[in-house]
Amino acid sequence: MHLARFPRVRLAHLPTPLEPLPRLSEALGVELWIKRDDCTGLAGGGNKTRKLEFLLGDAFEQGADTLVTQGAVQSNHVRQTAAAAASHGLKCEIILEERTGSKATDYTRNGNVLLDRLFDASIRTVPGGTDMAAELEITAEAVRKRGGKPYVIPGGGSNPTGALGYVDCAREIVVQADELDMQIDRIVTATGSAGTHAGLVAGLAVMGADIPVLGIGVRAPKDKQEANVLKLAKETAALLGRPDAVTDAMVVADCDYVGAGYGLVDEAVIEALKLAARTDGIVLDPVYTGKAMKGLIALARAGRFENETVVFLHTGGAQGLFGYQGEIEGSL
Ligand SMILES: *Cc1c(COP(=O)(O)O)cnc(C)c1O
Repeated sequence: MHLARFPRVRLAHLPTPLEPLPRLSEALGVELWIKRDDCTGLAGGGNKTRKLEFLLGDAFEQGADTLVTQGAVQSNHVRQTAAAAASHGLKCEIILEERTGSKATDYTRNGNVLLDRLFDASIRTVPGGTDMAAELEITAEAVRKRGGKPYVIPGGGSNPTGALGYVDCAREIVVQADELDMQIDRIVTATGSAGTHAGLVAGLAVMGADIPVLGIGVRAPKDKQEANVLKLAKETAALLGRPDAVTDAMVVADCDYVGAGYGLVDEAVIEALKLAARTDGIVLDPVYTGKAMKGLIALARAGRFENETVVFLHTGGAQGLFGYQGEIEGSL
């Protein structure tokens, strides 16, 4: 793999801890560990920071002065991008899609949005269902017209360059497990724009680590999610010089826990937030890690992880929790 071949800007506190979850393990009857990528450090942390290390490396190599990206209103990716830009003297142009339709003040103003503004990002908001790839190009063109040099980061930072961040995370997990003399049977992660899942799969495959990854979907149906992840995992392996390392069977997504849709909270998600908080003091988010934990809990209760040691990748997102006060507080 030799990731030092790729330009990189250090942003994250690494390695993130790999810790046991003793009380949640007992509650679910599974040996459960947690990889704390909620503790990557940048602007409160989260999974996008690892991707941004390689994306910013590429941006600087291309001489960019403005980062351009997009996400849902309460996007954690956008918040971490805005912080990375601020801390490196870059301008940041962001486009927020009203994907969930929520007009609640906490959703539109608090949480990640408040932080985006604190980091002085320029924000443009568009209706749900807008062609966001086209909007990125419109903004990039406007930056060029004013004499700037845009670097366009796709939603979630999910392209092969961004996915290198999760190739590195796969390496980190395997090193930590070896140091602990711990055999990992499965890694469980939320899977959305696919870069996290794809980077893990590509990294594990290139290392020959033979650890299955289960992605719990937060938006797309299973066949679409698996196709997106597989395509990106193969492209990422190719970038690492091992185009044949990833096989179709390595990519597995379970998209039965999306509920009513992306960013929409249901009772089982709130139950997952409460269980993680009240057993091991872990703060999950309602959009990604809460849905992934909802799935993990249901699968554990159905006996799907019997005799396994499972690592739950905590991808962050707690900042978004403050956009959901109205949906959650009545159930606490
Ligand atoms: C973006 C995000 C994810 C999903 O990661 P992808 O690489 O987009 O699939 C999971 N959890 C949190 C908290 C996120 O912000």
